[in-house]
Amino acid sequence: EQMFDTLTERLSGVFDKLTGRGVLSEKDVDAALREIRVALLEADVALPVVKDFVAKVKERAVGDDVIRAVSPGQQVIKLVHDGLVDLLGGEGEPEGLALDGEPPIAILMAGLQGSGKTTTAAKLARRIQTREKKKVLLASLDTRRPAAMEQLQQMAQQAEAGFLPIVAGQTATEIAKRAMKAGQLQGYDVVILDTAGRTSIDEELMAEAKAIADIAKPHETLLVADALTGQDAVETARRFHERLPLTGLVLTRMDGDGRGGAALSMRHVTGLPIKFLGVSEKVDGLDAFDAKRVAGRILG
Ligand code: GDP
Repeated sequence: EQMFDTLTERLSGVFDKLTGRGVLSEKDVDAALREIRVALLEADVALPVVKDFVAKVKERAVGDDVIRAVSPGQQVIKLVHDGLVDLLGGEGEPEGLALDGEPPIAILMAGLQGSGKTTTAAKLARRIQTREKKKVLLASLDTRRPAAMEQLQQMAQQAEAGFLPIVAGQTATEIAKRAMKAGQLQGYDVVILDTAGRTSIDEELMAEAKAIADIAKPHETLLVADALTGQDAVETARRFHERLPLTGLVLTRMDGDGRGGAALSMRHVTGLPIKFLGVSEKVDGLDAFDAKRVAGRILG
């Protein structure tokens, strides 16, 4: 809940000035928008996103005749709220996972090391099993880090999901093949493939992820990004999306006290839906993304 405190404080300062005033001049609206712009930039929202956002709110404010409205301040606040919801992907039900089709369906998890990818893989397994009543098999493809494989094995137990036994010496693509085969033979509906995390995006990582995707034909390829890393997370999302056909984003550590801008920018920069938010270290700490709720949280 701390995630958006800074942004919330800044915006409520602007809104305090707007409310409790009978009449607003165009100048007042402009001044408010200038402050909103600063608040968003300080919250780590990327400049092009901020520019777009402010222009849209201004356009609507003029079109809606905010200045002559009964409570113009409230009107501006509503426009900002609606603008944030739009920016975050619009109203309506949060987009779920594409799990229909001939089982087993593969979900590919991608992301930098430390982003929360392995934890999120287990959280997703748990969620799909409890909510969708589907059987999930978790497989670790992180051949370079045995510790990462063991971590997923432990988390699979907590999630009460299946886990593909570790076989030393196999390549990531060999494991992917084995996972899909095991999923099929053992009656799993969903196979979640946890790809290797790296400290930076490199050609080898991308080539490997592509080869895995060719084998598993995933219905979902989810990029896991740490919300606390702000603009770095946005850049990571942009670069992954250039090379791998992602279907959605998961933002972790939304329970931390980052500045929240990453959530706003990532959606805008990649055009991809944010599907889930990580909200704790625990295996049930995964929320479906809801644009209205997040916008409400930002505005306090
Ligand atoms: P990976 O290297 O990307 O697989 O990252 P891990 O899944 O190992 O996560 C790294 C650390 O972040 C672990 O200590 C996790 O418990 C923690 N973590 C992951 N997601 C969240 C989250 O949403 N909130 C919090 N507070 N911690 C998280």
